[in-house]
Amino acid sequence: EGVTYGLLPRPCRVLVLLNPQSGTGRALQLFQSHVQPMLTEANIAFTVFVTERPNHAHDFVQNGDLSSWNALVVMAGDGLMFEVVNGLMKRQDWESALKKPLCILPGGSGNALAASINHYAGNEPAIKEELLTNCTYILCKGLHTPMDLVSLRTASGKRLFSFLSFGWGFISDVDITSERYRKLGNARFTMGTVQCLAKLEVYKGRLSYLPVGETSASSSPYSEQSSSSGQSGHHTCYRNGHPIRILPQTAPGVSHVPEATWPEDSLLVPFNQPVPQHWTVEPEEEFIAIFAIYQSHLGADYVMAPKAKLHDGSIHLFYLKAGVSRTALLKLFLAIQKGTHMDLNYPQLRYIPVRAFRIEPFVAAGLMTVDGEMLPCEPVQGQVHNQLCRIIGG
Ligand code: ADP
Ligand code: MG
Repeated sequence: EGVTYGLLPRPCRVLVLLNPQSGTGRALQLFQSHVQPMLTEANIAFTVFVTERPNHAHDFVQNGDLSSWNALVVMAGDGLMFEVVNGLMKRQDWESALKKPLCILPGGSGNALAASINHYAGNEPAIKEELLTNCTYILCKGLHTPMDLVSLRTASGKRLFSFLSFGWGFISDVDITSERYRKLGNARFTMGTVQCLAKLEVYKGRLSYLPVGETSASSSPYSEQSSSSGQSGHHTCYRNGHPIRILPQTAPGVSHVPEATWPEDSLLVPFNQPVPQHWTVEPEEEFIAIFAIYQSHLGADYVMAPKAKLHDGSIHLFYLKAGVSRTALLKLFLAIQKGTHMDLNYPQLRYIPVRAFRIEPFVAAGLMTVDGEMLPCEPVQGQVHNQLCRIIGG
């Protein structure tokens, strides 16, 4: 597929969406001291939108007039970028809105996208102010490229768009447990890991996926019409051939945009149908963690998928089957900081690039996360959409 690169015009004007609460609470101060002088030098005019509450950026991006901006810059953690992506998707004009380049400047404690872009640019690993300066420099250069998004569907009927990761189990537990240590910045993940290791749990469920390179036999694409239970408002999932019922939920994440206008999830079938024949169903049903990531970094110093690229059309699926000791798990976490975890050759750790996946928990246990944000535990499936939005990087 052709890749179209672009360059921000000069002079240009960007909107900076900034979460003053993210990370150590210094985003505004860091913007003024580190970012502002470089933007001025590069002839990039900016307006700063300081968020006052969760979903403020989401609502603004969903409803606001964005025509004055050449790019939308997020100065926060991955959580605010998630709001922006999903806010854009809920616009009537989402398709043209997604052509506007996005940019991430690390201002949070979870800065995975910023660290990934720093890595793709060929820079040495960096954290804190150094990472911020690198990312600001990348913005000043102004090169933008396509980025994949993953469309995620939950059994209760939510559809979310994700740029970074979907997880269930250990890693997601760490992500959420560590939020209370946000003021420590990136070190929050070390604290969370130690705490979660103490109460190590096993999660039961079924994992299915479509490996990259598996040529698809014709499958019936996802549509609400083909879901017999869609009308009555609940979905049925299968566990060992027996249907289990998931009750519907009304929650944010349900869009006002007619489903039909969104990109079609041609690889997925409704939850009330088993996954297509050419998918792989993992025989193991006990997991410590399942983690699907589409960028290289899980955090500023966690390199989960070193080979991932912005638009490789792949979901990098990792899963850790039950039977790993705490010591081995700690070793694994230390190795992820260098990206050498696969070299440990743990038989319980599997990695496979896929285009789509489905996770069906047998009981609603443990946390799920989308781009680091929490989701109640329920069946989830997703597929990659190649080059759906644009990001400044390179
Ligand atoms: P971090 O990386 O530290 O988690 P994020 O930017 O990801 O920082 O933000 C964390 C959460 O804060 C997100 O869920 C976001 O919706 C929420 N949020 C955004 N703006 C505000 C605000 N002004 N006050 C409180 N929470 C906010
Ligand atoms: Mg976050």
